[in-house]
Parts: sequence; structure tokens; C-alpha cells
Amino acid sequence: MRLTVLGSGTAVPHPRRSSSSHWVEAAAGTLLLDCSGPAVHRMAEENCDWANLGAVWISHFHLDHVGGLAPFLFGTRHAPQTQQRRKPLVVCGPRGTEKLLRRFDEAGDYKLFEQPFPLEVKEVAPRAEFELLPGLNAETFSTPHTSESLAVRLTDARGTSLVYTSDTGFTEALAGFARAADLFLLECSFFREKPIKTHLVLEEAMRLARLSGARRVMLSHLYPEWDGVCIEAEAKRLWDGETIEARDGLRLDVGE
Ligand SMILES: [Zn+2]
Ligand SMILES: [Zn+2]
Repeated sequence: MRLTVLGSGTAVPHPRRSSSSHWVEAAAGTLLLDCSGPAVHRMAEENCDWANLGAVWISHFHLDHVGGLAPFLFGTRHAPQTQQRRKPLVVCGPRGTEKLLRRFDEAGDYKLFEQPFPLEVKEVAPRAEFELLPGLNAETFSTPHTSESLAVRLTDARGTSLVYTSDTGFTEALAGFARAADLFLLECSFFREKPIKTHLVLEEAMRLARLSGARRVMLSHLYPEWDGVCIEAEAKRLWDGETIEARDGLRLDVGE
């Protein structure tokens, strides 16, 4: 698997960190982990093959994670690059994903469900196990963030695993969900103090890293409070493993 960070930031406008989105290339196809507004154009900027995107994973309905989904589907409906496409696009997320998309669609009569290719919306529950793409297994975990928010664990045919928490508060159970992952892609919204309980500070993120036994950790969903802080050095003081600071445009091979 190969990961490209499209957006390492949050809902707060920032000059170098756009809101949450990560691109994954797997043997089974390509996958977008959350689709923020900027992600629609960040995919093109990073030369990601957006016209053949296999699946979109939606972690929860905050707009810094789902705000680009309807605009992306408006794009694929009209773009020359997708007119000959027949391969289905899977949009997968928590219960309510289809309703959210339908409401947006109806608000402007955009005909987002009428694509040149089949559009499949799949809703999953916490603790579900399913194939997100043929040969790419997924498991879900309910996170303490919103009522619908889900973390996802992806495992390819070779056994390489990537766990994406998206936004979450602290719960030790998340470390068990991410046990021995090749890459544990964690939110780390704040450094030392968090204004809201439903996000993580560095000490909590590093405690989860340690408990999980993950091979490597990447910290993303970074609020502007992180500007000027050396994240990797601060992480090292709390956990001896390899921590990578997500930056827009960063590419990383996951697994062997
Ligand atoms: Zn967020
Ligand atoms: Zn959120």
C-alpha cells in the first residue's frame, strides 16, 4: 500500500494544511480516506488518478471530512475523464451516509446519483468486517467523536495493515483495534491542551501508539496550534517508535 497525504489539517483554513483527506493505492485499487472540500483538487495536484478512484471512505459527517464528496460527484458526472468509465465507484461510510448525500443532491437537483458509471453507497456499522475493494479487507470501530464516527482498519492480501482513526477522543480500546498495524494513522489535533474532549493531544496519541505495538505512526488532523512545534521530536520524548508528521503532499510506502 502507498499513502499520499492530501490534507493534514482541519476545518480551520490554513496556508499549508488543507482539510482531512488521504489517498491510498493498494493492489486492489485506489481509495480516498475522507473527502474534504480541498481534496477534490488536491487529488489532481498530486497526480492521483481520480477518474479511476475505486472507493471513498467517509469516517463521519463533519464537513472537513465529507465536504468534498458532493462536489467530487458533481465533477465525475460532468468531467470528460469519466464519461467512458464503467467501473463502479463505492462510497462507504457510517449509517446516514446515503441520506446526507441525497439531501445535498435534492437541495440543488444535481443528479449526483446519475453518473456515467455505477455509484454504490454502502453503509457500515461499528465492528463490521467487509471487503472495501475486492481483496482489500476492512474492519470498523466506533470512535468517541460523533455518534456515527468510525475508525477503519484496512488489510490487503499480503497482510499489510493501515489503521485510520480519523477524528477521535481517547479510548484505550482504539489501541487494541490498531494492534501491530504497519501504519497507525492517528489524529493528533492538539499539542498539550484540548478545548474539546472528542480529539487527542500528543500524550494520548503516543499512549495509543505504545499500547498498539504499531510499526509506525503518522499524526494528522493538525490544528494551527501545531505551527512552529517540532512534532516528531516531541513525539520521541513520549514514545520511542517511529512517528511521522503528516504534511500535505507527503508520500509513504506502507508495509514491506
Ligand atoms: Zn475533523
Ligand atoms: Zn470531526
